[in-house]
Amino acid sequence: MENYSRQILYKNIGQDGQQAIRKATVLIIGAGALGSSSSEMMARAGVKKIILVDRDYVEASNLQRQMLFAKRHADEKVPKVVAAKERLLAVRPDLEIDIHIEHCGPSLMARLSSQADIILDGTDNFDTRLLINDAAYKYGRPWVYAACVESSYSSCGFVPGATPCYRCLVPMLPAAALTCDTAGIIAPAVQMAVSEQVTTALKILTGQFAAPYYMRIGDLWDMEHRRFQIDHIQEENCLTCSSKHEYPALNETADQTMKLCGRDTVQVLDERITQEAVRQAVIHLDINVNTTPYFNEFYFEGQRLVCFNNGRILIHGTDNMNRARTLVNQLFG
Ligand SMILES: [Zn+2]
Repeated sequence: MENYSRQILYKNIGQDGQQAIRKATVLIIGAGALGSSSSEMMARAGVKKIILVDRDYVEASNLQRQMLFAKRHADEKVPKVVAAKERLLAVRPDLEIDIHIEHCGPSLMARLSSQADIILDGTDNFDTRLLINDAAYKYGRPWVYAACVESSYSSCGFVPGATPCYRCLVPMLPAAALTCDTAGIIAPAVQMAVSEQVTTALKILTGQFAAPYYMRIGDLWDMEHRRFQIDHIQEENCLTCSSKHEYPALNETADQTMKLCGRDTVQVLDERITQEAVRQAVIHLDINVNTTPYFNEFYFEGQRLVCFNNGRILIHGTDNMNRARTLVNQLFG
């Protein structure tokens, strides 16, 4: 407990609070800027276990704000969760950590949610947040939203049975047109979002998260910070948190091809894309391939392709989903 002496001294944590934190399993969806910082703060706070999910690898443009990663990780295109695990275990050798180099779809989300005491949002898009929201409410787990772009940040805690859900709030949220890939971001905005998110998580884990409930929004550059109360905005017919219990985001969608938000990249999930199929395709087409322990990378028809070992491929340099599917069919059809 000596490691946590300063946190235990803090009047709202104490020995009892630390014991509660010590028992917690935290599921973090996304290991980019938000997930890097929240996973490190939760590890240092003393949680028992972290489950980390991310589909991407480290790139040079991440290093400005994604605190767990070093230049080597970008040079070697190490998957974010692998680099994160290395760093988190250096900080906390006793931490239990499970990593998943995967797209977070409905079935994975459902499986992991039921193992977690709390879920932290480290994503950058509405669709995945709705998925987290629906899984959290279906399995009765609290979750904490966080977002940041440019110099602004926002956060909100959602607790099934106590607060309205994220789906209820969506009509009130600002338009999602800005992403950090299109509008940019400064690192302090990430740290503000995560500081609020982790504080809310500590309040939830120690049983001190209580009404009135707020969403908080701020802008560091403009030196503004506001909060608005969310207690009374539950949508009567919400598909997630009313008595309907439909959780629509948990339905498996037939469409397994998706644009990655602002990345000029299309992801295709297709079970034909096995390691053996990739090997056959590159031999057949006489393509040079860069093989890492986690994926095969090669150029095909002018596009850079990254094939992970679990039926998933990233087609970089296009946002045309038809073009992406055509390339996949040419390679694996
Ligand atoms: Zn709702």
